[in-house]
Amino acid sequence: MTEGTLKIGSFSRIPIKVHWTFGVMILFVSYSIFTSDQKMEENLATLAFLGALFLCVILHEYGHALTARRFGVVTRDIILSPIGGVARMESMPEKPFHEFVIALAGPLVNFIIGLGFAIYLFVFTDHIFPEVVDFHFNETGEFIRYITLMNFLLFGFNLIPAFPMDGGRILRAILSARLGRILGTKVATFIGRLIAVLFIIMGIFLAEIVLGLIGLFIFMMAGKEYDQARITMLLGKTTAAEIMRTAFTRLHLSDTYSMVIEKYYREGEQNFLVFDSLGNLSGTVPELFIKDIIKHNTPDKTVNQLMSGKAVTVSPSQSLKEVIELMKNEGIAIVAVGDDQHIMGILDRNGIENFIRIKSE
Ligand code: ZN
Repeated sequence: MTEGTLKIGSFSRIPIKVHWTFGVMILFVSYSIFTSDQKMEENLATLAFLGALFLCVILHEYGHALTARRFGVVTRDIILSPIGGVARMESMPEKPFHEFVIALAGPLVNFIIGLGFAIYLFVFTDHIFPEVVDFHFNETGEFIRYITLMNFLLFGFNLIPAFPMDGGRILRAILSARLGRILGTKVATFIGRLIAVLFIIMGIFLAEIVLGLIGLFIFMMAGKEYDQARITMLLGKTTAAEIMRTAFTRLHLSDTYSMVIEKYYREGEQNFLVFDSLGNLSGTVPELFIKDIIKHNTPDKTVNQLMSGKAVTVSPSQSLKEVIELMKNEGIAIVAVGDDQHIMGILDRNGIENFIRIKSE
């Protein structure tokens, strides 16, 4: 979901992006603040409070991201949306212990911030939390009290043991260590759903719509994590040989794109391998190039005029998980399956996506 996001900065080589809905929320909140009948200083204080709150959310995400880096897990970016932040990781931490520490690191950041301010307030003022929570920041101490309160709330909220909260991941990590990842995720999902139902029931009885909505949100998101764990497991167990396409066209360097386009439309092949006159694999034609030729209407071009010189062969016994990683790292859309002497089939991005789609249903 990189679409609809805007990069606002980068820290420690991890870009921070905001989703457009976040921008809409800022506008909406600013509008309702400045059209209220409060004094200008109070309006600015409210805005500063929201800014500080989101800074704490960003720091929370960096807690996850920088801890993940220690275990070799790369964070692609951090995305802010109205419901909070997400640190999107390239891969899942393999070991339950790593997942446990990475998941805990985020809430721990809020706990430390909260604790730091609480100590300050305890030493220099007469109370730590606002006496009445009415969101009036009439003095610096009161401002800090709200920041402290919000950080403790963020800490507590994220530790609710239900996906997609960090607590759900912590619970899964603990369960996975004993039950394995799939069963661990399944049990964690079940517990998360129970909690969600509890929230919804409480929301109805206490007439707290926010509580009910949180419950509904957790309930809907819970299953996704389980599906993802199942697919990851499946990709690790399925070999290239199992889903490779054995009927494929071998393009030659002198072939024209009009022939490639014909294959593309008539036979549904989307990515191709290219061979030289001696039959050696010498490159690929990804779908992107074919679309480009169609768009610019230049079918007379030959394959050697527009092709990628990168050609990778994978062994039939390699797992789809490894193949996907290889494709991502090399930026390629197709691989040959076999060895240097004999290519048995091809595996392309579209084929793998199709496999994942069928298995996800
Ligand atoms: Zn988190």
